[in-house]
Amino acid sequence: MKLLAKYVFVTGGVVSGLGKGVVTASLGHLLRARGVAATLQKIDPYLNVDAGTINPYEHGEVFVTKDGLETDLDIGHYERFLHQDLGRANYVTTGQIYWAVIQRERRGDYLGRTVQVVPHVTEEIKARIRGALEATGSEVVVVEVGGTVGDIEGLPYLEAVRQLRDELPEEDVAVVHLAYLPILSTTGELKTKPAQHSVKELRTAGIQPDFVVARCPTPLPDQLRRKIALFCDVPVDHVIEDRDLPSIYEVPLLLAEEGMDVKLLRRLDLEPRETDLRAWKDFVRRLKNPERFLRIGIVGKYVELHDAYLSLVEALRHAGAALGVSVEIRWISAEQVEKEGEGVLAGVQGIIVPGGFGERGIEGKILAADWARRQGTPYLGICLGMQVAAIAFARNVLGKKNAHSTEFDPHTPDPVIDLLPEQTKVKEKGGTMRLGEYPAELVPGSKIQKAYDQEKINERHRHRYEFNPRYLDLFSRAGFLPSALSPDGRLVEALELRDHPWYVAVQFHPEFRSRPLRPHPLFVSFLRACLSS
Ligand code: GLN
Repeated sequence: MKLLAKYVFVTGGVVSGLGKGVVTASLGHLLRARGVAATLQKIDPYLNVDAGTINPYEHGEVFVTKDGLETDLDIGHYERFLHQDLGRANYVTTGQIYWAVIQRERRGDYLGRTVQVVPHVTEEIKARIRGALEATGSEVVVVEVGGTVGDIEGLPYLEAVRQLRDELPEEDVAVVHLAYLPILSTTGELKTKPAQHSVKELRTAGIQPDFVVARCPTPLPDQLRRKIALFCDVPVDHVIEDRDLPSIYEVPLLLAEEGMDVKLLRRLDLEPRETDLRAWKDFVRRLKNPERFLRIGIVGKYVELHDAYLSLVEALRHAGAALGVSVEIRWISAEQVEKEGEGVLAGVQGIIVPGGFGERGIEGKILAADWARRQGTPYLGICLGMQVAAIAFARNVLGKKNAHSTEFDPHTPDPVIDLLPEQTKVKEKGGTMRLGEYPAELVPGSKIQKAYDQEKINERHRHRYEFNPRYLDLFSRAGFLPSALSPDGRLVEALELRDHPWYVAVQFHPEFRSRPLRPHPLFVSFLRACLSS
């Protein structure tokens, strides 16, 4: 039997930041809820090969897949909405495409031909899109074309979409265009003109959308639906409202109310089966009706830019919903802690120091970790947050005043965090870290083991430095115990304080594996401890 292979492209117009990733993720969710084997793919039209070297100020968090690719944060939305682990095949950048084409050219595979954007780059793009179906064994791939139509970088991708439309039967390719409808402040009116222009731009690339999803601050009046339908040449019931909602998790439900899933399946000539959104609805209901509140301090470097910690925030929401708790996050600048002292930490019921790179604010993070230890405040240290907890402990409990990580002080007399001998000198910044999922074994009876209720775990990593095993005995004897180790026993994956209500520091990133319907046990356990502290 021939397997189905269908393609849905999501393009965006007018402005960036419309929530294209969330709409794409929502479509994936709805298709899967109707029993369709769907997967998602993000195309980032940047020349970067992966997102690992992009500054969080520009693009928010770097998400890490199970197979160790550093991606844009939308892949995190995809995993959370699809309830599925994604991988390399689900994330494409222009850097990867050109890298492959240029390598082929160097090998002489093009047999002397002139190598061009059309057809060579566009062929590579199409191969990658098909690759997402093959790698995941899916029948439908929803592909988010990053950027805004009209961007120079996006042109080869739109051309690839146009070619696929030409090559494949009509029912195998659908295009969904997401456009913004602004409100004019003077008249309070919703305007459709920018959306019309963005569809025109798409048509210039030879693509007529099948659906126009209208992102609007308020509900979409019928006469505007008709207007968009007329000017953009789509059936009126293919104009879909995507109004602002209190939570991104409501987007699939709104799109389902709009009948988007059924209409899309019909467009793809697939029979819509029964859907079951009960569990998701229940999650949204719990999210919106908390019984209790917690204030959690996140001490970090990019506190004015919450997208830099997106998966962490979502992991707290998932765990909060499971416990009927609304988590209010207090963003605390590590530099402020450094300058003004630990007083700025007062008033929170738990502290998280998340992952990070670079020296800025490091002393503030060390102070925050130490404060939580002394106060008996629940503490969750993630990656760099584990490393600063170890530094704080070495300095203030073991009396090793100049202890540090060699990342920040290469000549420290006490390198409690260090590169391991086999990690030879790092020269390049791209792709030189411990990345992706690794197994760890939990110490029976430890807090972390009780939280997971498992002996073995697999968690995602993104770091270069490790806890220095030379210090393990000293730490253990003083009450900061290893509670997770790599299977060969050489790498310390977690430490926890014996004499503290809940002080757990992990070298990995649990936040990447939290899902709305499967909150991560470490976050649930952390919030529980905060509730009773
Ligand atoms: N900078 C630290 C390292 O490379 C921690 C990285 C992180 O927190 N993701 O080991």
